[in-house]
Amino acid sequence: MSSTEQRVAIVTGAARGIGAATAVRLAAEGHAVAVLDLDEVACAATVATITGQGGTALAVGCDVSDSGQVETAVARVTEQLGAPVVLVNNAGVLRDNLLFKMSDDDWDTVMNVHLRGAFLMSRACQKHMVDAGFGRIVNLSSSSALGNRGQVNYAAAKAGMQGFTKTLAKELGKFGITANAVAPGFIATDMTAATAERVGMGFEDFKAAAATQIPVARTGEPDDIANAVAFFADEKTGFVSGQVLYVAGGPLN
Ligand code: NAP
Repeated sequence: MSSTEQRVAIVTGAARGIGAATAVRLAAEGHAVAVLDLDEVACAATVATITGQGGTALAVGCDVSDSGQVETAVARVTEQLGAPVVLVNNAGVLRDNLLFKMSDDDWDTVMNVHLRGAFLMSRACQKHMVDAGFGRIVNLSSSSALGNRGQVNYAAAKAGMQGFTKTLAKELGKFGITANAVAPGFIATDMTAATAERVGMGFEDFKAAAATQIPVARTGEPDDIANAVAFFADEKTGFVSGQVLYVAGGPLN
């Protein structure tokens, strides 16, 4: 691939939150971006932001936990934008509960979206990266990977994302493909707003309380994570692989 050719990136869960900010950021850096989410219509706002800034984007509806839908989506991206060589596995859900109250469905849903989703998307995209001799896979982990009360499913999935990332780095490195993980702390999105609602707090109060525990004295914004993803997606970071970068406003214990 020549360096002047526009690279194609897929960002999953890009209708809103961190995924939307990441899609916009990668487009601003010159990628053609597939904005992939469960509901294709919901991707329109992110696509409009990108095209409004002169970029190229395609809305793609796909459930990342469904292998048939993933194969179809990646084939469509390849046909309509070009072969994807950057993949950001960002799609995510929460089904928080204490262990004794957690249902089988709560466990399976979280595993399926985060881990199975990242596996299916990475498997479908790697062949294009191998063909290109270039690839960047960035997986969204979380500070919850270190353990978080009420999130036994999510913590296990996000710790799993780290092992998945390191293994991809080992298997795919010789093909010019890097794999890294970004592990956010508290980022203000619909996901954390839903957590505030669940615990019966207003979002501003919830954020203020969280900020008291964060060394930089504020909660994160989606762009804070988009920045870190963009670093790993960059052509120039080809010697950085298998890393987990905590982006949490300070060190975590
Ligand atoms: P968000 O605002 O809830 O956005 C997640 C997006 O993923 C939604 O658009 C959602 O679609 C989509 N999605 C869910 N299931 C999907 C599936 N099966 N297939 C395709 N798309 C699916 O979440 P966020 O806060 O931006 O989080 C993005 C990522 O960062 C997640 O992996 C999350 O675990 C991780 N993270 C977030 C934080 C934080 O503080 N916000 C911290 C650490 C890690 P619907 O709206 O249709 O459900």
